Amino acid sequence: MSDSDRCAICERPFEAGRKRHRPDGPGGQLVNCVQCGEYRLVGHEAVSGSYSWPPEIRPPLSCAAREAFESGLPLQITQSNVLDLAKGHENSRVADNIEKLLLQIAAKLRRPGGKTSLNFGSDFPLIDCYSPEEFRQYVSWIFEGGLVTGIAYTADYTAEVSLTVKGWSRVQPASRAGGIPGRCFVAMWFAEDTRAAYDNGIEPAISDAGFRAIRIDRKEHNNEIPDEIMAEIRNSEFMVADFTGQRAGVYYEAGFAMGLGRRVIWCCRKDEIRNLHFDTNHKNHIVWEAPEELREKLYRRIRATILEQG
Ligand SMILES: [Zn+2]
Repeated sequence: MSDSDRCAICERPFEAGRKRHRPDGPGGQLVNCVQCGEYRLVGHEAVSGSYSWPPEIRPPLSCAAREAFESGLPLQITQSNVLDLAKGHENSRVADNIEKLLLQIAAKLRRPGGKTSLNFGSDFPLIDCYSPEEFRQYVSWIFEGGLVTGIAYTADYTAEVSLTVKGWSRVQPASRAGGIPGRCFVAMWFAEDTRAAYDNGIEPAISDAGFRAIRIDRKEHNNEIPDEIMAEIRNSEFMVADFTGQRAGVYYEAGFAMGLGRRVIWCCRKDEIRNLHFDTNHKNHIVWEAPEELREKLYRRIRATILEQG
């Protein structure tokens, strides 16, 4: 069996007669595996298919690829980033994996009442699981905890599941900080220079996580912060503040949101990190270079700090 008949990550053979690798730009390949999802192999080594990854990184890498695929941002794997990609999925806590499983089920269901199927043989990397048996254990834990219902096992090692009210409450906790649940105020410098960061980074990250982005363009020659902005910050569940451009208004709005008890997610483009004001430069900023990177990091931060902590 040649390399192109197997997944480069999990080494699962593709179905007979179906090549799942296809060329993707110079020196790249797009691979579609039932277990790892779709991912990109980038670099000259992709063409030869001669991957020499150590066996122990394959299971976490499969989890990394599947998670990225499910979030709509397929992984780009090169020889130099492969260890880092795997590392993030090596020592996951059980509690985090349970939360992740509930979020994956919710994302597939989209609305209450429906059912979705989980295939133990191929869906285990949806969370940081390395085998069908481990995954099955997680599914039975959330069932025993009353978080999912209606598990019906079918012949092909598949479970049909639905979330209970308790499960939905874990995935979409009621807002405790005030504001209208689901609204996220975006404080940033609205200019040509930052347009792509909003359109391709901040806005899609917020909507992917199930929130609505609220932005109000402010006239830069007017030093006052309009009442409309203050009202929208009050009405928002949390704030995303990007400090690229070092606008005083953004600092002011972030401070106002914090004073109201709203959570603020701090962001800044990498080349401006050194310009951050000393009063806030110790905050855990999302540091980004490209809008797509901002989108991915922000989406993860919203899930980790707004959705999963309630
Ligand atoms: Zn695979």
